[in-house]
Amino acid sequence: MKGCEALLKAIDAYLTKADDSLTDALSGAGFADAAETVSEIASLEEKLAAALKTETAYIKAQARKAVDLEAFARDWPEIAAGNPIDEQLVEIFLDNFNENMPKLATAYIKRVDPQLTVATITSRTTAWAQEWSEDLAELMKLSTQNEVQRLLTSTLAEGNSVADFTRALMDSGIRDEYYRARRAALTETLRAHSVAQQEALMQNPACEDKEWVHTGGYRNSPRENHVAMHGVKVRVNEPFTLLGLVGGVYYPMYPRDTNLPPGESINCHCIHRGIANENVLGLSLEERQRLQQEAIDNDDGLWEEELNTQNKARAGISVEDVYKTPQTVYNDTESIEARQIIGMKTNNGITVENVKVHFVDQMHSRNVSVDNVISALEKPLHITDPKLNTRGEASRQYIGRECTVVLNTDTKTAVTNWPTGTRRREKLERGLLP
Ligand SMILES: [Zn+2]
Repeated sequence: MKGCEALLKAIDAYLTKADDSLTDALSGAGFADAAETVSEIASLEEKLAAALKTETAYIKAQARKAVDLEAFARDWPEIAAGNPIDEQLVEIFLDNFNENMPKLATAYIKRVDPQLTVATITSRTTAWAQEWSEDLAELMKLSTQNEVQRLLTSTLAEGNSVADFTRALMDSGIRDEYYRARRAALTETLRAHSVAQQEALMQNPACEDKEWVHTGGYRNSPRENHVAMHGVKVRVNEPFTLLGLVGGVYYPMYPRDTNLPPGESINCHCIHRGIANENVLGLSLEERQRLQQEAIDNDDGLWEEELNTQNKARAGISVEDVYKTPQTVYNDTESIEARQIIGMKTNNGITVENVKVHFVDQMHSRNVSVDNVISALEKPLHITDPKLNTRGEASRQYIGRECTVVLNTDTKTAVTNWPTGTRRREKLERGLLP
C-alpha cells in the first residue's frame, strides 16, 4: 500500500507541476486568469473525452450488431449520420462559452479599466459562439468519420472480420480520446481568450486601438510571420493584415481567429491587447459605463443589419434595402422625409447617394427628425476616423448636436443613426472629447 500511495503522490505532484508550468507559461505570455484557465482546460478536456468515449462505444456497438464487416461497411454512412456526438459537442462547447465568456471578458476589460465589468455579451459574439460550436462539432465528427472510413477500407482489403476492425479501431487515433480532447480543449480555451479580449476592447470606450503581441510561444518554435506582427497596431473594430506563412493574406480580428487556417492558429500563443486613451479613462465612471453601453448597442445594431443582409444573401433573396432616389417613387410615406438627404453634401464633401431602409426605421423608432440628420451631416460636432467593415468599406460617425449618423463613405450610404447622448454632446462642445 505504501508503494502505491507514494506513486499516487508522485503522479499527483507530477500533474500539479505540469499544470504549474502551463500556468506560468500562460501568465508569462499575457493571458488573464492563468491558473483558472488551466483548470478550465482540464474540465473541458474531461467533458470532451467523456463524449468521445461515448462515440467510440457507439461505433463498437454498431459494428458488433453487423452480420459481417461488409454489412457494417455498407451501413456505415447511415450509422455515421446517426452518431449523436455532434449534438453533445455543441452543448459542451456552448455551455463552456456561456460560463466563461463574461468572466474572461471582465478580466480583460479590468486590465485597462479596473472599474468596468462585462455583464452583457454582444449579439455578434454570442452568434459567433453558436456558429463556431456547431462548426467545431461537425469537424470533430467528420474527423472520426474519415478515420473509421479509412480503417474500414484497409481492414476490408485484407479480408478481415468485425473483430479485427474493432481491434484496429481501438488501436487507432480515435481511441486516444484524451489526446484529442486535450488538444481541442487547449486550442478552444486559448481561442476563447482572444474572443473575450476582443469583446472587452469593443466594449471599452478607452480602447480605440489594439496591438498584436507575439510572446515567444510555449513549447513551440515561433512562426516568423507572427514574430513580424509583434507591435502592429490597428483600430479595435478592424482586422489585422497577416501575411500567411505559406503565402496568402489573412484578415484576423485577433490571434487564433477562426478565419485563419489551422496552420496559422494551432499552437499560436500570440495575444492582442488594447491601447488605452488616458483622456477617456479620466471621465467619470458613470460616463464610461454609459459609453460602454452605447458601444454594445451600436454593435448590436450593426450586427443585426449585417445578419439581415447575410440571411437575405443565403436565401438568395435580393431585396432592395436602400432608397436610391429623392423622388417619390416609393409608396411608403415614412421614407419621403428621410430621402431628402439624398444628394446633400456632408461637411467633409461627401454626397449622400443612398439611404438604408434600416436608417429610416431607426429614425422613426428613435424619434430622430430629418432636420437633426441634416444638421449632423452638415454641422457635426465631430467626425470619427473611418472604420472598415468586413468588405473593406469605410464608415464614419457624424456626431451632431441632436443625433449621430453613420455614413458608409465608400458606398455613400446612410447606414444608421441614434440620438446623441447629452453628456457626449456637452463634452464635445467643451472640446473634451474625443
Ligand atoms: Zn502566433
